[in-house]
Amino acid sequence: MIRAGWFCSAMCALSIGMAPLATAQTTKASQTDTDAIYDIALSNIILILHHEIGHALIDQFGLPVVGQEEDAVDAFATLLVLDTYEDPGPILLDSAAMWFAFDELSKQEGHEPSYYDEHDLDIQRAYRILCLAHGLDPDTYAEAAKRRAMPDERLETCEYDAALASDSWEVLLEGAQRQGDTPAGAVTVAINSSEEFDDLRQELEYTGVLKDIGEWIDTHYAWPNPMVLEASECGEVNAFYDPAEIKITLCYEMMDELLYVAETLKQ
Ligand SMILES: [Zn+2]
Repeated sequence: MIRAGWFCSAMCALSIGMAPLATAQTTKASQTDTDAIYDIALSNIILILHHEIGHALIDQFGLPVVGQEEDAVDAFATLLVLDTYEDPGPILLDSAAMWFAFDELSKQEGHEPSYYDEHDLDIQRAYRILCLAHGLDPDTYAEAAKRRAMPDERLETCEYDAALASDSWEVLLEGAQRQGDTPAGAVTVAINSSEEFDDLRQELEYTGVLKDIGEWIDTHYAWPNPMVLEASECGEVNAFYDPAEIKITLCYEMMDELLYVAETLKQ
């Protein structure tokens, strides 16, 4: 499965459409830095949406989950991006860098790690992306893994982790796969209006990311119920799957936060 040209078209569109999004955080950056900041944010949006798609698949197809669901869908997101994007490297490396940055920021702000959380710690989520990516494609991700001081012994076991997770998801999704090369019409994409984040709404519309992902999952999975993939103003920094409404929501507040943290990565 290769999403031919998809990533490039999204990234190119995002770069071209930079001007409307010049916010207080980004006006001081050079244009090159600004492009890079938006690319990092877009990479993270892509991985986050795939994480939520993992939740939706588990719910809609009643998939068994052994262990933490959040871990399982983190792995799903990384593996699907590795499997289906022509050039998954920037998406995964930017996403890992973002989790490292979240970890760094929360340390600077003096936050205690939330050991009881349903998610792993930010820094563990960063390493998990590198581990799975390296496990399936060591040539591409070795440098990033080494830079983050991952030892050879662990990188070897990452190969096992990645193969096991990949094989497991393949078995789980056997009954969910849909044969066909056009969307079934089960997934609706909505980029909702927002007074406060209208610049982000426009940008998201312009990249076509939500629409492309919606079409892809509508083509490749046999969703048993109508599903919505939306971007909305939520009043919180979040992205989530709502099983009651069968809806994935990407909050504009999350996009805003990603841009803010992406800027710290470029400093
Ligand atoms: Zn989740």
